[in-house]
Amino acid sequence: MTTRRVFMMQSVLGASALASGAAMAAAPAMVAETDANAKALAYVADAATTKNAKHKPGMACANCALYQGKAGDVAGACPLFAGKQVASKGWCSAYAKKA
Ligand code: SF4
Repeated sequence: MTTRRVFMMQSVLGASALASGAAMAAAPAMVAETDANAKALAYVADAATTKNAKHKPGMACANCALYQGKAGDVAGACPLFAGKQVASKGWCSAYAKKA
């Protein structure tokens, strides 16, 4: 193998490693139920696990007016948790049914 060919392969590998690193950095972290903000809003990552009296069957981030994920996404942004993502099947006490 020529030096030039090795160099080109290294360049391709390096570029793809950079690209995957950028993709990982672009995905915000998930909100943890233990975050102070999450606790204040009684957020749970799985709506089925909440014992909060405000929760009614069927309520989940995926059908909340504040949820910014697309249909089918497992997580998306919520303005109440800036810089993080909430689970589509999550829920919090600020839930507002999507019109
Ligand atoms: S406001 Fe809506 S989208 Fe945001 S965490 Fe609460 S239920 Fe989920």
